[in-house]
Amino acid sequence: MLKDLVAEDVAELAKQLNFAQKVKRSLELIEQAYVEYGDGLVVANSLGKDSSAVWHLAKRVSPKIRGFIITTRFKPPETKQVMAEEVSRYPELRVFRNDEEIPDKLYATDPDRCCEILKVKPIRQAIKEMEVSCWVTGLRCTEGRTRTDFKEIEERDIGLIKLNPILIWYEREVWQYLALNRVHVNPLYGKGYRSLGCWPCTKIAQGADERAGRWIGTSKCGGECGIHTKPLLDYQI
Ligand code: SF4
Repeated sequence: MLKDLVAEDVAELAKQLNFAQKVKRSLELIEQAYVEYGDGLVVANSLGKDSSAVWHLAKRVSPKIRGFIITTRFKPPETKQVMAEEVSRYPELRVFRNDEEIPDKLYATDPDRCCEILKVKPIRQAIKEMEVSCWVTGLRCTEGRTRTDFKEIEERDIGLIKLNPILIWYEREVWQYLALNRVHVNPLYGKGYRSLGCWPCTKIAQGADERAGRWIGTSKCGGECGIHTKPLLDYQI
């Protein structure tokens, strides 16, 4: 059973396991979830380094595993380019975006609403249209102040499992995996970014918190867009 693999203390596990053991554990988590959920298992690919690692791991489990990308009108050109390349390489990767009109500079006046419209709404659509029963993310518990409470397997929405197979990986181990497997990454990392998002809300930042460059100058600084914290199934909205 997938749930038998859950670790109670992920922070402790992150310290105890070495890189190879973590890779093995992540593959096992995806494999078992794929056995349990089949085609209902879908990877959320944000085109950042963590998603690139998870997408690569999932493809090792089965080339048939599907994915979705949530994009917005505010993604940087580099991310749009990576998206075009990935979609042409993997036809099983679908793109969702919401083009509805929003007030000018909503990202500055009300970033929560902006994220709700441009990110949370399309992910709800993706989950519904792709009939997702288990979505797979690149969340890591050492990424920032808002990410310490997650578990490897969660059920925040009843009937929708969220699998975080690299939850216990450190930033360095993600880069180790990508380098060892020669995975192409978003060129924005070469410019100094450590966490990628929409251009108005993402800056280059230093320090321990990888997500410190997100939503600088707003109440959301270093925070979350909502896809990991809000209900994603229609009936719960
Ligand atoms: S990250 Fe910024 S621009 Fe992108 S949806 Fe959220 S608030 Fe809007």
